[in-house]
Amino acid sequence: MRPLTMLLTLSLALPASALAQDLAEAPSPSATAASAPAAAPLDEARLAALLDEIDDLVESKRKFTQVMVDKLFSFSEVAFQEVETSRYLTGILRDNGFTVREGISGIPTAWWASWGSGEPVIALGSDIDGIPKANQKPGVAYHDPLVPDAPGHGEGHNSGQAVNITAALALKEIMERERIPGTLVLWPGVAEELVATKAWFVRDGHFQDVDAVIFTHVGNNLNVSWGGGRGTGLVSAEFTFAGEAAHSAGSPWRGRSSLDAVELMNVAWNYRREHLRPLQRSHYVIPDGGDQPNVVPSTATAWYFIREMDQENIKKNFDALIRIAEGAALMTDTEMSYRIVGTAYPRHFNRPMAEAIHEHIEEVGLPEWSDADQRLAKAVQREVGSDTTGLASELSELEGPPEEEQSGGSDDIGDISWVVPTVTLRYPSNLPGLAGHHWSSAIAMATPIAHKGATAGAKVLARAALEMFERDEILRDAREYFAEQTAEHQYTPFIDADDEPAIEKNAEMMERFRPLLEPYYFDETRFDTYLEQLGIQYPTVRPSSAAEAGTGGPGR
Ligand SMILES: [Zn+2]
Repeated sequence: MRPLTMLLTLSLALPASALAQDLAEAPSPSATAASAPAAAPLDEARLAALLDEIDDLVESKRKFTQVMVDKLFSFSEVAFQEVETSRYLTGILRDNGFTVREGISGIPTAWWASWGSGEPVIALGSDIDGIPKANQKPGVAYHDPLVPDAPGHGEGHNSGQAVNITAALALKEIMERERIPGTLVLWPGVAEELVATKAWFVRDGHFQDVDAVIFTHVGNNLNVSWGGGRGTGLVSAEFTFAGEAAHSAGSPWRGRSSLDAVELMNVAWNYRREHLRPLQRSHYVIPDGGDQPNVVPSTATAWYFIREMDQENIKKNFDALIRIAEGAALMTDTEMSYRIVGTAYPRHFNRPMAEAIHEHIEEVGLPEWSDADQRLAKAVQREVGSDTTGLASELSELEGPPEEEQSGGSDDIGDISWVVPTVTLRYPSNLPGLAGHHWSSAIAMATPIAHKGATAGAKVLARAALEMFERDEILRDAREYFAEQTAEHQYTPFIDADDEPAIEKNAEMMERFRPLLEPYYFDETRFDTYLEQLGIQYPTVRPSSAAEAGTGGPGR
């Protein structure tokens, strides 16, 4: 038995009224902070009892959590088009007494939901957008979309708000009864896949009065880390060239091709890559490459992500890219303009907060996976050519900064991590060993794996936030760490007051697919789970002979 549980057993002997009285007599967090270092006498037994109670509360909300996970999965909405998702989530929050402001930072699907009063203010965030072309039936261990070519949750962002809202409602219940002072805020990572909103939230001051941010993100284990050096930051920008149309055969000499400019720009960047630091990552697509071959393209656009480990190197590479784009315009007699679509600062997570959360991770532990869960996981791993390790069976360690910087993806939670003490809690709703941003990452996301992972995440989140409301030295230490972090490096955002959020992105895609997806929205009034609604046997795997012969490769 763990120490906290032992304390709980003792404190259960206390009548509830005694617990309430302890609270009433406890000094408020702000009073304690002012009179530091004489710490408030925290009633450890009472806290232990409350932690155990909140664990049970989250447990009792399993059904509620599952419905949210399944519902968001079925909406299958992509960046900036999270219309049904946000309507549904804000509805739940309003019904539960939260005050909701919609459309913050001029972003229609963004919102800010708060409950409670006074300090501290703890804000819980999680992303909500899906991935283009990642549509996939849940629980089926091979590529089998519900709606071919439609977007889907091939990242797992359908689960994070279920974690946060479940934890928040459990917290609210206890804070109300125990009259614990403080404010809870919930907010969505809109368009995280375009890293296109969090820097705008920061720019517009939404986090000014927030004391701590606990961000949740889907993963395949239950973990937190602190420090920097893991993953990249980025600038995302569209470069548009304007030339002159002409008949491609009749009078090609009268045309100035914007597509030529895009191609020359891309070729030049691909040469430049050889002379960049190996940790950089950069990639592009061509959203506009002209209309048809017999018309010289008068406009063309290349859309780039420029990633590096720190702000200085991101800027250096981005400046080089701008010069290359100017060169391409010179070579083709076209005009170039560019626009920032997204940006993510390199992340730096708060050590005292991570350490506090990690203790709760050890208390909660990994979910118990069923044989069916493991069969699905291994079949998917086999399908995509990964090691068939199944689901996580051991908790990962609390990780500090890596000895050597590790390149990889980015998340605009980075911007927030430089203006308020922040940590990302990862919870085990997805499968290990997948490529990411792919239909295979959607397979588990409306199955018992995602549901159990979300409940485990919500337990850790609720416990950790409750402890932060109660034990004010965590946030005091977090502030101290943050002061050191920001003394060493000053946050220099890539956007300024004139950069507008790219809210028109993906509108056409959703216009096309929404009518096809609607018939598949999860109806929780008629079905227990989304798997049941779709009539999917869990798990659905290839006949073992075919799978074991390795005939089922990715991309089928
Ligand atoms: Zn993500």
